[in-house]
Amino acid sequence: MNVEIEELYQEVILDHSRRPRNFGDLADAAVRVHGDNPACGDEIHLCVKFDAEGGLQDIKFTGYGCAISQASASLMTMKLRGKSRAEVMELLHAFHSLVTDETSETPKELGDLVVMRGVRKFPQRVKCAMLAWRAVEQALEQGAGEATVSTEPA
Ligand code: ZN
Repeated sequence: MNVEIEELYQEVILDHSRRPRNFGDLADAAVRVHGDNPACGDEIHLCVKFDAEGGLQDIKFTGYGCAISQASASLMTMKLRGKSRAEVMELLHAFHSLVTDETSETPKELGDLVVMRGVRKFPQRVKCAMLAWRAVEQALEQGAGEATVSTEPA
């Protein structure tokens, strides 16, 4: 990747970590998931509201931690709001291969999330980038109530 693109990606990550989008609480959330990445000290509190078909009607988060974890959560909520369950799972798998698989093509449907592809060189940062996605996966699986997910085995 050329240097100019890397710098542009850095800027997007910094912008989202400083001014996270969809940051806040949903009073009438169906599910709340607390995501914990003890390896880096990142935390995400995700709240999700479903539509009648089980799609993501609304999604917000709060949290703190490194720029990668917070920017990934911010970009993720922008991408996933209004998506069906199937679309969310597809994007989850596409994002996972973006940040872990050296050979993967960059899927077009990920949009701005491609800025995260640099973490594939750093296994510890993959946990930061995946934290919010692990939380949303848990939210879909669970459907209601509260849960905690961690990047480390219990
Ligand atoms: Zn982190």
